[in-house]
Amino acid sequence: MTGPKKRDLTKSNAQFRKAVKRLPLGVSSTFRYWGDDRTIYVDHGKGGRTWDIDGNCYVDYRLGYGPAILGYADDRVDAAARRGMEVGGVFALSTERELTVADRIAKMVPAAELVRFSNSGTEAVMAALRLARAHTGRDSYLLVEGGYHGLFDAAMWMANMEDWDTQSDRDPEVVSYGKGIPRTLKELAHLVPMNDYQRLEDTFRKYGNTLAAMLIEPIQGNCCAISADVEYVRLARKLCDDYGVLLIIDEVKTGFRVGKGGIQGIMGVRPDICTFAKAVANGYPIAVVAGREEVMRTFRYGGASHGGTYTAHSVSLAAAEECLRILDETPALETIADYGERLKAGISGILNARKIVHSYTGHPSMFGLFFAESPPNNYRDWKKSDYSFYDQMAYHLHDLGVICEPDSREPWFMCEAHGRDETCLSDTLKAVETAVDLTL
Ligand code: PMP
Repeated sequence: MTGPKKRDLTKSNAQFRKAVKRLPLGVSSTFRYWGDDRTIYVDHGKGGRTWDIDGNCYVDYRLGYGPAILGYADDRVDAAARRGMEVGGVFALSTERELTVADRIAKMVPAAELVRFSNSGTEAVMAALRLARAHTGRDSYLLVEGGYHGLFDAAMWMANMEDWDTQSDRDPEVVSYGKGIPRTLKELAHLVPMNDYQRLEDTFRKYGNTLAAMLIEPIQGNCCAISADVEYVRLARKLCDDYGVLLIIDEVKTGFRVGKGGIQGIMGVRPDICTFAKAVANGYPIAVVAGREEVMRTFRYGGASHGGTYTAHSVSLAAAEECLRILDETPALETIADYGERLKAGISGILNARKIVHSYTGHPSMFGLFFAESPPNNYRDWKKSDYSFYDQMAYHLHDLGVICEPDSREPWFMCEAHGRDETCLSDTLKAVETAVDLTL
């Protein structure tokens, strides 16, 4: 097979060789290491595109794993961030803008009766779980297989699909993501497969009285945007109520992206606690833990502890104020979803012309693409599906100037700037056509 002309990654490769001497794997997050000769170093991003240090330009569907909801270096948000810089950063005291932004969040997300700010998705979910434990007096919790909730120890448990027999009815073993997670924590974490109603009921029957919380991403932003049925999330809500368990909807990826009120708004399910991060401030570091007043008031002296030197930093907060204003008051989210629909239609046109069976998961603003008639219903189904075509196609796309996750686990993310620049769509579709033909 003759591939497209390879991108020139000479400078990135040289940078990698220097960086790896100082930074483990040459990067600041392990997921950014794509191999010694494919790890990319970015020069800058603008709108829906990223330029690497070799000058290669990519239409970017990773968007930093979702945060750049409006597009990179958005002039409106950056101007607000500069105003935030003049405020002075952090004071170990509060500012008026915290309430302004919290009011906006409460208006957009009815379940966010009270709001606390954190710095990252990890911190927000960690605070949410602690809050649930403090409020219920219980330690155990329930996770959904294929979900991801950040890098803190309690969230680092997953279903081991490597050793799992796809024909068997046996549950996969629960294992930690990597080493360094204390084994003694394992007994607190229970896992259920998404969209398996019977197993959910059985698990609550068995462990419900010991659970502080159930954590769920109704669109799994780290597992191909596999989506929960609305009825499944409603059942989770009901079982949580029956057993005194708090429902935490993790909207770190879906929040302020799939709709103003997040996936909970679309599904009409009200969590006790919810978390947000990526799209809150168009990439400036800030996250949110929010929820029911009675629960949130557990954040107090003598209750659940929450804080942090950098929480509600003046730059991030000013950026959040402007980003959320745009998402709330302008048609930005419609522009994003419309672009996603047009992109999916264009990709389907190319695949249908070649009689390639495919399907999508998620939402037009963050979708997964599958080469099967129907998309997987949960992580176990995903394990059974063949994703080698996707992986190969993604590999070619990178060389053709379209960047998506190198494996099928991350959805494609859309931003407002994609929708405002018609060349993003035409460049992407041209690249997809070539990448598909090279993969066939
Ligand atoms: N929850 C979800 C659903 C996420 O997708 C992520 C990050 N991908 C996190 C939590 C953790 O967020 P962060 O990387 O900002 O710590």
